[in-house]
Amino acid sequence: MAGRVESPPPPAKPVPHPDDLSRPYWEAAREGKLLLQRCSSCGEHQFYPRPFCLACRGSELEWIEATGRGRLHTFSVVHRTADRAFAADVPYVFAVVELDEGPRLTVNVVDTALETLECDIPVRVVFTSIGDDTTVPNARGEA
Ligand SMILES: [Zn+2]
Repeated sequence: MAGRVESPPPPAKPVPHPDDLSRPYWEAAREGKLLLQRCSSCGEHQFYPRPFCLACRGSELEWIEATGRGRLHTFSVVHRTADRAFAADVPYVFAVVELDEGPRLTVNVVDTALETLECDIPVRVVFTSIGDDTTVPNARGEA
């Protein structure tokens, strides 16, 4: 009798590893707040966290809480994934959201009917716990 070959368990999903620069962002995310950096010199917002302003190269950056509102810039519905860590999640929506403040954020679109998705629809950032005291921003259609 042929033995059944068991697949090994899926690998763990990647998790963020906060450093001194990104720690405020991840701590706020755990509380359901989306932080962006704003340059004190030129007023531009940026994401992800960096030690200087991309617009003017200034280094006076402050954290501000974003509105959490934006538009769906682009997206893809993932039906098959080569990454076994995400295989149980299909279909899922991989997307880029353009926040009202300007920066773009890579997220999953959650709790939204797939047939309602199209570029430029309004979305709102929501937060998803991924365990180990870690929360990540995602987005949900506002329609
Ligand atoms: Zn600047």
